[in-house]
Amino acid sequence: MSKTIIISNRLPVQLQISDGGLQAIPSVGGLATGMKSVHSDGESLWIGWSGLTDEEIPDGLEGEIDKALEAHGCSKVRLTKKEVNGFYFGFSNRTVWPLFHYFMEYSEFELSNWEIYEAVNQKFANAILEVAEEDDVIWVHDYQLMLVPEMVRKQRPEVSIGFFLHIPFPSYEIFRTLPWRREVLRGLLGSDLIGFHTYDYERHFLSSVRRLLGLEVSFNEIHLEERIVKVDSFPMGIDYKKFHQAALDHSKLKAGEESDLKRRLNTHKASTPNAKFFLSIDRLDYTKGIAKRINAFEYFLQKYPEYKEKVRLIILAVPSRSKVPQYQKLKKEIDELVGRINGELSTVSWTPIWYFYRSLPFDNLIDLYTSCDIAWLTPIRDGMNLVAKEYIATRTDQSGVLILSEMAGSANEMNEALLINPNNFEQIADALHQAINMPKEEQVARNVPMQKRLERYNVEKWANDFMDSLKVQKKQDFSFVARRLSVDQTNTLMKDYRKAGNRILFLDYDGTLAGFKNDPQKASPDSELLDLLDELHKQTRTDIFLISGRDKDTFTRWFEGKQYSMIVEHGVWIAEKGEPFQLLENVKNDWMAKIRPVLESFVDRTPGSFIEDKNYSLAWHYRSTDPDFGQKRASELNTVLTSLIANDDLSVLNGNKVVEIKSSNVNKGRAALRMISRKSYDFIFAIGDDWTDEFMFQDLPKEAITVKVGRMKTQARYYVDGIGNVRELLKRFTSI
Ligand code: UDP
Repeated sequence: MSKTIIISNRLPVQLQISDGGLQAIPSVGGLATGMKSVHSDGESLWIGWSGLTDEEIPDGLEGEIDKALEAHGCSKVRLTKKEVNGFYFGFSNRTVWPLFHYFMEYSEFELSNWEIYEAVNQKFANAILEVAEEDDVIWVHDYQLMLVPEMVRKQRPEVSIGFFLHIPFPSYEIFRTLPWRREVLRGLLGSDLIGFHTYDYERHFLSSVRRLLGLEVSFNEIHLEERIVKVDSFPMGIDYKKFHQAALDHSKLKAGEESDLKRRLNTHKASTPNAKFFLSIDRLDYTKGIAKRINAFEYFLQKYPEYKEKVRLIILAVPSRSKVPQYQKLKKEIDELVGRINGELSTVSWTPIWYFYRSLPFDNLIDLYTSCDIAWLTPIRDGMNLVAKEYIATRTDQSGVLILSEMAGSANEMNEALLINPNNFEQIADALHQAINMPKEEQVARNVPMQKRLERYNVEKWANDFMDSLKVQKKQDFSFVARRLSVDQTNTLMKDYRKAGNRILFLDYDGTLAGFKNDPQKASPDSELLDLLDELHKQTRTDIFLISGRDKDTFTRWFEGKQYSMIVEHGVWIAEKGEPFQLLENVKNDWMAKIRPVLESFVDRTPGSFIEDKNYSLAWHYRSTDPDFGQKRASELNTVLTSLIANDDLSVLNGNKVVEIKSSNVNKGRAALRMISRKSYDFIFAIGDDWTDEFMFQDLPKEAITVKVGRMKTQARYYVDGIGNVRELLKRFTSI
């Protein structure tokens, strides 16, 4: 039976070692809750760090810890103190965290931390590899483990891997500053499915993949040589029922049963019935904009002094990463700011800011959510912000106003909130004013649709959606029209090849026999390829045809003295048995004078693009341009050409980063058909990667062996993964 393996930096249980022994206490955080259905459904294992470094684990307790974790379906990865420092406090929290949240000035690029990050990711990957089988489903979580998917994929190519990033993915301009940007992208691309909270993070990621790795992206799919990776957004939800129900339960408590905190809040409310409570809850993190919020509060009181003694800001700042210097500085800054403002503004009966630096138990959180009229959550940058969702979930009478930063991922789903730019104090002050004065009906009208959405797309639905999408993606990956050329089929192919009287091989060049280069003239054949073709040519019963869109001069130069046949410019020219090229099709080129100036105007306006002049066709290449820009220009060019060539017998071919204009009656299929009609062949083979090769796959007779390079939709019968596989296959032909 296949199992699910979840992997995250921390396990969903907390280990507590006391005199009485060891206890494993399940966490109640959002992720642990969301994963409950995935983790308890059938067979599943959660791998992560226990929270205790090797140095902290008392002698002799190792076995007991493993047993305690096993009882919760967990298994631990061991980390030393040095590893935790380099991997977690170092690269994860001093490089990735600030960079991905647009705090470039805080990002440290330390080679030693990167090396530890790599090594620790390998440790996590090894822990998976120890237990993973081919039909397992693996879900990797978050920015601490971005290299794990590729590390696992290398050893288990067929396993299903999903990755979810819980923080923002920054724009390409930010991401490109990371010295190890390509390694990180390649690490992530080991996955079958990569999930983000929002569409913006998704498109930033896709843009980086295109620009930094030059990979083909169509819609939300990335085409690798051997696989397709899907990228999608799954906004993480909360355990809506838990928060809503807790709030309902709290509302039914009698006076004596309420918490101390609730009682005190009630007392204050009773003494100043018209006063409003603003609530601010975050981890103490510079991304959350707590200091800015306090400054904005001061500004609000200056702009609207009539609210002095009528409003109170409750700040709950949860201690976090206190080993990282920026967090220590921030703590000091906030302490001082709160002290100053309270010192300046407090009166005998009023303290404007109540500041708590601690973590509160769940029931106290509910008390805060339900007691505060206005939740004021204005992070400078936040992957999601679950507190905003939790606040809305606890408003059982649908009252309350949420003021939320546009920079929080949750703002995408919470349009009905008062959305503000956390840097715009004027707007914030006005939003607070609006919130204080918002009629109850308007509050309800805004909150009801948000509650409905949060209830429907809760954290369990989020987890299940991701898993379902991962399973579908894996299936689709293998449901191409073509089938992979398996070992058995290759063996049968070899038998047929041996038996055949006359064989003909049509071999496309670029992307099939040789890889793409930014400058097409640099993609000349290497000696291994030339030897391979020579060997094939030696076989008396085999006719080989290189069949390409290239121009004849390039092939004449590259294959000088070679005796095999070549068809170029998609079928305009043919050279046989070492003879010079001759026209295969009678085509005109008088149309070029009209089209060339159009292409030139595109070259002028598209840096990096250029025209390739062939004898009977013109090609506009844009491989070296910015990919998005190139694509945009290519579709613009297509539109211009369509109207321009309406009355000519011309067609426009959109190849791999190239737009080519040529005579309509020339294509590789037509050329190949002409070749096979000249002799009786009982083994016909055609292989190619581009859609210009589809003409061959389509036109050749049914019994022909047609092979596509790469897993794309095709008319070919089979596919192979890459150029390496093509060469291997041809090598086997030579051995017969
Ligand atoms: N939270 C908590 N104890 C507290 C304050 C907050 O457990 O004293 C929880 C809160 O309920 C929420 C989470 O911490 O689920 C914070 O998540 P969010 O997405 O808002 O921010 P993050 O800390 O992940 O950046």
